[in-house]
Amino acid sequence: MKYLSTRGEAPETGFAEACLAGLAPDGGLYVPKEWPRIEPARPGEPYAEVAARIISAFAGEAIALADVQKICWGAYAGFAHQSVAPLTQWGPDTWLMELHHGPTLAFKDVAMQLIAKLYDYLLGKSGERLTVVCATSGDTGGAAAAAFAGAKQSRLVILHPQGRVSPVQRLFMTTTGAGNILNIAVTGDFDDAQAIVKQLFADKDFARTVSLSGVNSINWARVAAQCVYYATTQAQLRGSAVRYVVPSGNMGDALAGYVAARCGLLTGGFEAVCAVNENDALARLFNTGRMTRAAAVATPSPAMDISVPSNFERILYEMTARDAGAVRATYAAYAQSGDTPLPGGVLAKLGCSGLSAASINNAETLTEMERFRQETGWLICPHTAVGTALARRLPKKDFATVVLATAAASKFPETVIEATGHDAPLPVRCEALTGRSEVFENLPADLGAVRARILDFTR
Ligand SMILES: *Cc1c(COP(=O)(O)O)cnc(C)c1O
Repeated sequence: MKYLSTRGEAPETGFAEACLAGLAPDGGLYVPKEWPRIEPARPGEPYAEVAARIISAFAGEAIALADVQKICWGAYAGFAHQSVAPLTQWGPDTWLMELHHGPTLAFKDVAMQLIAKLYDYLLGKSGERLTVVCATSGDTGGAAAAAFAGAKQSRLVILHPQGRVSPVQRLFMTTTGAGNILNIAVTGDFDDAQAIVKQLFADKDFARTVSLSGVNSINWARVAAQCVYYATTQAQLRGSAVRYVVPSGNMGDALAGYVAARCGLLTGGFEAVCAVNENDALARLFNTGRMTRAAAVATPSPAMDISVPSNFERILYEMTARDAGAVRATYAAYAQSGDTPLPGGVLAKLGCSGLSAASINNAETLTEMERFRQETGWLICPHTAVGTALARRLPKKDFATVVLATAAASKFPETVIEATGHDAPLPVRCEALTGRSEVFENLPADLGAVRARILDFTR
């Protein structure tokens, strides 16, 4: 299986290289040269088996199926629910797909647990040691820490904005006790942390010296791993039509649904509505056909406070019939002016893609958390609430609507109290978290300081 860049100016590469690199050298995102045909999941087929078949199809010759199976069973052994992504019904033909049964209570665990084991496997062959660097607004850092703690072939460096992640989110990152993890609290906001990470990648000497790698949501392995729960949901709903509602930020999760459909995993057809918060760049894109930059604003659903939905680039590539020149031109215009129309015909194609997007405001999100509690007795996280609020607004259909529950309520206890007046205690398996000592360092939002510290850490 070969991989191409959406910007068309990077050489074709294999699965291992595409995953380990993250971003393509021309600034584009990797996509498979052809969409593989994958057999849909069977009802009752174990999650790890489905995952192994899907990853194996995307890896091609790169890994033997037996090895992928071992990696997948290992990745999902630590989940608190045997089905990994169970469905629960909350209304007439309306379901939650629970993606928060992993070690850090958010859906990022589903892909990250697999990636860490995949990296150890791929790098174990060459003996190479990578430095994985990620900037986090909260959930990615914790999921990466839980997954990479004790990894043999990789070190992990996490940059989080000092004082701007929730206490529970910080504890997940800083209490692993693992010697291969460096936690840096940067003075500044998420954009400052992310800007430093981008500059580190742009510094080719540094990148080569420390063997730099990225695991943010544009990493192809994450997209591949996220296809799996669409396939298992389709099997649980016995192949019938499903409408997915996907709380979205960088659009990795919604893209995975689109990819699952392209590979033949969704026998009931494909319809996914991206639910965004007041950071509504994605909704504007789908509804006006323009890519418009706006500063990110803080909302009750911080993991979706994203102004540029990076994974849209892969969708654009498909909607232009893989015209890398058109993708390049669009992103060049966007970088320059911050406001550019999509290439001709793309808006109409998007309309037939099964994908759409709409925004839910802050007040609606909080109201929905309380309404959901009153109707079902359950507490949901603010990101999930953006999805359920949107689901209520959509026209009724005679088939299932599935909202992706992207995190557990207990990860955002402050917001849950504000919205519902109720405590959302951590599950028993995470209670030990609050008793552990934290390890992290404070640094100014300064490229030189961060670079020097990482060089020292990797020496
Ligand atoms: C990351 C995240 C999202 C957004 O997912 P994308 O793949 O970036 O669209 C939604 N909810 C939670 C809880 C998250 O952590």
